[in-house]
Amino acid sequence: MERQRESRSYPIGASIFREGDHGDRAFLITRGRVKIATSRGGTERTLAEMTAGDVFGEVALIDAGPRSADAVALEDTDLLEIRQSSLANTLGDTDPLVPLMLRVLTERFREAQSRVGTPEGELPQEVPHGSAFEELRRCAAERVELEEALRRALEMGELELHYQPIVSLASGVLAGFEALVRWRSPHLGLVSPEQFVPLAERTGLIDPIGNWVLEESMRTHASWLDDFRQAFPHEPLPYMGVNVSPAQITSETGRALLTNTLRSGALDPRLVRLELTESLLVSEPELVGRILRDLKGLGVSLAIDDFGTGYSSLRTLCDFPFDALKIDRSFVDPMAQCEDSRRIVRSIIAMARELQLAVVAEGIETEEQAELLTGFGCGFGQGYRFSKPAPRAEIDDLLRSRATW
Ligand code: C2E
Ligand code: CA
Ligand code: CA
Repeated sequence: MERQRESRSYPIGASIFREGDHGDRAFLITRGRVKIATSRGGTERTLAEMTAGDVFGEVALIDAGPRSADAVALEDTDLLEIRQSSLANTLGDTDPLVPLMLRVLTERFREAQSRVGTPEGELPQEVPHGSAFEELRRCAAERVELEEALRRALEMGELELHYQPIVSLASGVLAGFEALVRWRSPHLGLVSPEQFVPLAERTGLIDPIGNWVLEESMRTHASWLDDFRQAFPHEPLPYMGVNVSPAQITSETGRALLTNTLRSGALDPRLVRLELTESLLVSEPELVGRILRDLKGLGVSLAIDDFGTGYSSLRTLCDFPFDALKIDRSFVDPMAQCEDSRRIVRSIIAMARELQLAVVAEGIETEEQAELLTGFGCGFGQGYRFSKPAPRAEIDDLLRSRATW
């Protein structure tokens, strides 16, 4: 994947660019201090001093003209470079009004500069400031920093997997696992996937991250199979459930990575179950159908995740080659108190049986919920009632102790 933004460090005193240089990128200061100065007229004049969170050189993003001032590091400084080409790519995908508005704003900015007679390159008095602008700037800086940190997280080994057991409700024996990714950031602590997976999806980082999840979970699962065989010689081998984002599966890079990993031989793909959400099925059903059939051709099974929360029709359920359906926690949670929820859950289970889909109920927290579901004929369950998602070592212990529920 092309790196769209790059960090660079400048020692104290280093020149970042000079007046007249061709400009093709803007800079965000992530650490240190930068002076913007001009030597026109013989003597040097400082136009601005900037610190972490400030952006400079941004006009180059719009017009790629010559730099109108010098930029020098006043301390050891780290900068994030935002290249014009990457911005153009990103803008190409957005509403055409956005680039237009940017151009209009730059021109207004230039006009304002000439009206107040500010020397070229100097910030005019009415440069946008105030709290709304500050807020916008802070948000943008935080997002870019988070994205950079996530980009590095994979290289630095900061991602880890927890595994949550999935249990056969009739026998209480382990039937599978779900691999759930976490980010242990040295700065932010343990970050939940709900916070960083959407960012990874927007930036394309989900392709390498999702592939790492598949690789790592396949390797780990292969190492558990002997222990499982010893503990439960007469039970079918458990599967490893892996979440796959729609973004990952509709991107060619993401799909090629997944396919290679499934073919790698680390684990029999028949023991892998890919969990996909309904949102994948809504747009481009023909393309998605083909992709899912190709994946199934590699031997994996497919589950529809968070069932009942999306907008897919029953028709789409029949059209796609799913093997299992996961009932979303939002139906399981109120079951004990609410007759309507019980009716919905019972109907989903009956429908799944007709369609020959295995059913996994998510988010089972109480014995009462587990009993109701068993009574309705639900095959499998997952939730804190059995086990929270746990790091690899805890699952090692659980297998050795031959735990059942
Ligand atoms: P999900 O696929 O629906 O995963 C189940 C979530 O429910 C997990 O949250 C799990 O910890 C939580 N959970 C399980 N049992 C219970 C319970 O009894 N009570 C309650 N309150 N919660 C329970 P987690 O790990 O925070 O993951 C959140 C979501 O992030 C996942 O929802 C999934 O959509 C996404 N995600 C996690 N790992 C990955 C990944 O590797 N790739 C992708 N694309 N998405 C992932
Ligand atoms: Ca899932
Ligand atoms: Ca789910």
